[in-house]
Amino acid sequence: MSHGNDYAPETLAVHAGVDAHEFHPAVPPIYQTSTFGFATAEEGAALFAGKGQGYIYSRMGNPTVQAVEKAVAALEGGYAALACGSGMAAVHTALGTLLKQGDHVVCSEAVYGPTCTLVGSIMSEFGIESTMVDTGDIAAVRAAMRPNTKVVYIETPCNPTLVIADIEAISKLAHEMGALVVVDNTFMGPILQRPFRFGADVIVHSLTKSLNGHADVVGGMVVVRDQEMYAKMRRMLNHFGGVLPPMESFLVHRGIKTLPLRVRAQCENAQIIAEHFEHHPQVEWLCFPGLKSHPQYELAQRQMDGPGAIISFCLKGGIEAGRRMMNAVKLCMLAVSLGGVETLIQHPASMTHASMGAKARCQAHIEDGLVRLSVGIENVKDIIADLEQALEAAASKAKKAEHTVEPAVG
Ligand SMILES: *Cc1c(COP(=O)(O)O)cnc(C)c1O
Repeated sequence: MSHGNDYAPETLAVHAGVDAHEFHPAVPPIYQTSTFGFATAEEGAALFAGKGQGYIYSRMGNPTVQAVEKAVAALEGGYAALACGSGMAAVHTALGTLLKQGDHVVCSEAVYGPTCTLVGSIMSEFGIESTMVDTGDIAAVRAAMRPNTKVVYIETPCNPTLVIADIEAISKLAHEMGALVVVDNTFMGPILQRPFRFGADVIVHSLTKSLNGHADVVGGMVVVRDQEMYAKMRRMLNHFGGVLPPMESFLVHRGIKTLPLRVRAQCENAQIIAEHFEHHPQVEWLCFPGLKSHPQYELAQRQMDGPGAIISFCLKGGIEAGRRMMNAVKLCMLAVSLGGVETLIQHPASMTHASMGAKARCQAHIEDGLVRLSVGIENVKDIIADLEQALEAAASKAKKAEHTVEPAVG
C-alpha cells in the first residue's frame, strides 16, 4: 500500500508500507543485506544516476527500511520519512541539514537533555547560535527571534515539565520571520499529535519510545513534507551515515501495527492514575495534560488527540523522598525511556538531570521531588497498588527519620 492517506490511523498502522511482494506474504521479508547486485553495468550506472527502480547499498536505501519509513510518513501525513539509527541521529539529521555556520536556532528550554547539548554546545562549536526559551510562552519565542533565526525547534509536551507549545501559533510566527519549525513529536507520537496539521515543517521521532513500543530497539525518524526537503535530508543522512538497520526497521514496523491500541490503553491508564494521585497526601502537585489543573489544558484539548502516557508529580520530602520511592517500587520499572508497554518510573534530580546541578534544575523547574512516570498497558489497578505502597514506604521512612537523630558525618 502506498501513502493512502485517506485511511484512518488504525488502518494505516496495520497496512502502510506493506507493499506487494512476489509471494504476497502478510509480512514482507527482512532484507538483511548490506549491498545489492546489478544485472548489468548499465543498470548499475542508471541506479547511481538516480534512475530506475532498485537498490545499491543499504546505507543509501533498503526495502525493509523503506517499508517502515513509508509507515511513519503515512501516519504523520508527510511526503516521506528517513529512518535513523537513533532519535538523536534523527535530531542531528534534521538540524544538521537546516542550519549552517552563522545561523541561529530558537529551542525549547526543557528539551530532551542530549538535544540541549547538541543545540547549545556541540552546534555552537560549528558556529551555530542558539537561544533556549520557554516555548509554552509565545511572547518569549517572539522575543528570541533574530534576523538569522533559521529554525524554531520545539518539543511538546516538554520533558519532564509537560509544558505545551502551541505548534500553530509558533509556526505562524516562525514562517512570518522566515524560519522553519521542527517538532520533536516523540512524546505524543503520530496518533495523538499531528504537527503538520498545525504548520510544522519537519517532524522528528525517537522510534525507541512509543512507535516501537516494546523497549527492544533504539531508532529515530525524520518526516518531511516535500521532495525538496526530502532530498536535502537524505543527502545529510547518507553522508553522516546514521541509518537504521533492516532488523531494527522490521521490529519497529511490527510495533507500529499495534501503536493505536497501545497508545489508547496507555492514555486510559494514565488518566485514571493521574486522577487517583492528584490529591494524594504524599504528592505536592501532579502535572498531566489530561487534568483540568494543567495550566494549558485548553491548548492540550485543541492540539492533542489524547493526554499521553507521561505523568510528572512532585513528592513531599524532596530528593530523599524521591530516592526512597524509587527503591520501593516493585512492578514499575526503575528506568529511563518512555512510551513502551511497561510502566517506567524515574527521578530526574538523581538520574537524568542530576548532572545539571541543583541550581540549573531549579531554573528549569525540575524540582528535587519530581518523579516522572511513563504509564504502560498493565492492569491499572496493579500500577496504582504499586505506586500506593511505594508512596507509603517513602512517607513512613520519612516520618521515622524525623524522630531519629542523624549521626554527625565527617
Ligand atoms: C528519547 C528521546 C530522544 C532521543 O532518542 P534516542 O532514540 O534515545 O536517541 C529525543 N527526544 C525525545 C523527546 C526523547 O524522549
